[in-house]
Amino acid sequence: MQIINDATALQTLTATLHAEQKTIGFVPTMGALHDGHLSLVKAARKQTDVVIASIFVNPTQFGKHEDLSRYPRDLERDAELLAPLGVEYLFTPTPDEIYPAGYATYVNVEGLSEMLEGASRPGHFRGVATVLTILFHLVRPHRVFMGQKDAQQCVVVKKMVRDLRIPTEIVIVPTRREADGLAMSSRNQYLSAEQRRAAPVLFRALTQAQKLFASGERDAQAITRAMQQTIAAEPLGVLDYIAVNDAQRLAPVTIIHEQAVIVSLAVRFGTTRLIDNMILSR
Ligand code: AMP
Repeated sequence: MQIINDATALQTLTATLHAEQKTIGFVPTMGALHDGHLSLVKAARKQTDVVIASIFVNPTQFGKHEDLSRYPRDLERDAELLAPLGVEYLFTPTPDEIYPAGYATYVNVEGLSEMLEGASRPGHFRGVATVLTILFHLVRPHRVFMGQKDAQQCVVVKKMVRDLRIPTEIVIVPTRREADGLAMSSRNQYLSAEQRRAAPVLFRALTQAQKLFASGERDAQAITRAMQQTIAAEPLGVLDYIAVNDAQRLAPVTIIHEQAVIVSLAVRFGTTRLIDNMILSR
């Protein structure tokens, strides 16, 4: 596995891969890798000729009071996890390489970026859309592999790719979970032992939503109320939001008809904020 820090070198490399007619699979990450990330890499390995991963803790997607400075970083360990999976190239730029002095261009996917996670984290999706636009131009991937865990991110990025006519396909990979249901996340490392024991409450609430739906409940408010009670019974967790939205466009849903919906929630444990979601469909 070759590690590349230089954006121009990456661009030269991907131009060669295109000339050789290789299909490029791209897995963008912020590092502190876990099995969720690795399942994206494995999917890319199966579906494309050459796999390029990136590790970049993107400053523009963090709010002023968020965890940018304490975000876990361990490049050596991450590289050891990626190499045996057949990742050919790992792009690990510095912030200055991506945003040189005087950088001034931002991408904003209007509407989708202001709701749910965007409402709790203003500017977050602007940062995500901006860095991915830059990375997509450098890598020119045929397919990009992203996790269902960040469901809204998937919808925002798919919309951006459509609007900007970026010639790539976004492939969504299912959420990997710990044995107790907690969705794998680099931020799980922040949890104290007590908070870690409490954290599967997100999954319990989602499973409850799924059971209610399976038993015929179609009222989004009834589903939300039941989930709220589950979260409220866990004293260490403070609910940020629960929402039921159309799975394709994220429009809020009150009564679930034929369409697939996504139930998503965010819960705080101390200063750590966890998100999770599940799709409900017949
Ligand atoms: P991050 O490093 O948190 O920016 O995540 C990089 C990619 O990994 C994103 O596409 C995430 O949605 C995906 N990802 C994160 N956690 C999981 C998980 N538990 N299962 C599957 N994909 C995940």
